[in-house]
Amino acid sequence: MEKKNVDWGNLSFSYMPTDERYVSRFKDGAWDEGCMTKDPVVQMSECAGVLQYCQACFEGLKAYTTEKGQTVVFRPDMNAERLKNSCERLEMPVLPEGRFVESVEKVVKANWAWVPPYGSGATLYIRPFMYACGPVIGVAPAKEYEYRAFCTPVGPYFKGGVKPLTIRVSDFDRAAPRGTGHIKAGLNYAMSLHAIVDAHHQGFDENMYLDPATRTKVEETGGANFLFVTKDNVVVTPKSDSILPSITRRSLMVVAEKYLGLKVEQREVLLDEVKDFAECGLCGTAAVISPVGKIVDHGKEICLPSGMSDMGPVTKKLYDTLTGIQMGRIEAPEGWIHVIE
Ligand SMILES: *Cc1c(COP(=O)(O)O)cnc(C)c1O
Repeated sequence: MEKKNVDWGNLSFSYMPTDERYVSRFKDGAWDEGCMTKDPVVQMSECAGVLQYCQACFEGLKAYTTEKGQTVVFRPDMNAERLKNSCERLEMPVLPEGRFVESVEKVVKANWAWVPPYGSGATLYIRPFMYACGPVIGVAPAKEYEYRAFCTPVGPYFKGGVKPLTIRVSDFDRAAPRGTGHIKAGLNYAMSLHAIVDAHHQGFDENMYLDPATRTKVEETGGANFLFVTKDNVVVTPKSDSILPSITRRSLMVVAEKYLGLKVEQREVLLDEVKDFAECGLCGTAAVISPVGKIVDHGKEICLPSGMSDMGPVTKKLYDTLTGIQMGRIEAPEGWIHVIE
């Protein structure tokens, strides 16, 4: 099939409707068999649970064209597991076993012409999500749900080169202790919008959120986990029950240990020790790793030794290795690459 006539290298990270999406409905206690549709518009009750009480969750993953020309998806089983956890925490029905990966495969196949070619730097971003479409007025879980998965091509994240970020320590909190910080719920994002708009107004790229209970420990940013590198090359990532378990971050920890032979630690990270790290990066599906050059804590600047013009050396090696695995240039650990045929 011929690829769409798209300027792949100049795409941004934004929504572009593609040809088909997957839809499945949950009603009377059961899921239907699911189908593909060309209609990108959803219609629902004005009293839908998602509209009134935010009962919704989502996932995000990418399809790539590898060096050998295969179309692959990175670790979709991990997204399936995380969606299940999100649904359980939000009293939403769980998809039948295997249905998530099947929906991802169907969406990629139906939109084959939208999968960016190898070497373009672009990728196909897949957005599976579930929401309560049944009406609720008294606060309760809805009785009807819709699961959908669509895809949209997205451009290379580092267009025109890598630019390390400047982030600030936020006075807003992202997630409560024992709240919903560990699941991928839209509600965690709704309340972060004011904080990010404010950060941008003040000239910062992102917010560093601290643990809300003590405000002494590093948690994450609005949509990416932290990864630090110590001066003696230990890769450190914060441990907390209110951090969203990033699949990219968990994969990078494996890459650090098994491919680069580095020591890795997942532990509490104090804000006070951030000044001692050599490198800092933000991990997520969108960028894989965005390097952080400067962290500002209420006027006090912490400048990472890796500087403001490039990724630190360890961050770069982690980035190159993981993207090499995703693009099929480096052999992947068992089960990481899901080939779509
Ligand atoms: C999605 C998300 C991430 C990144 O997770 P990946 O699985 O690596 O894409 C990190 N933090 C938050 C809050 C997220 O929602």
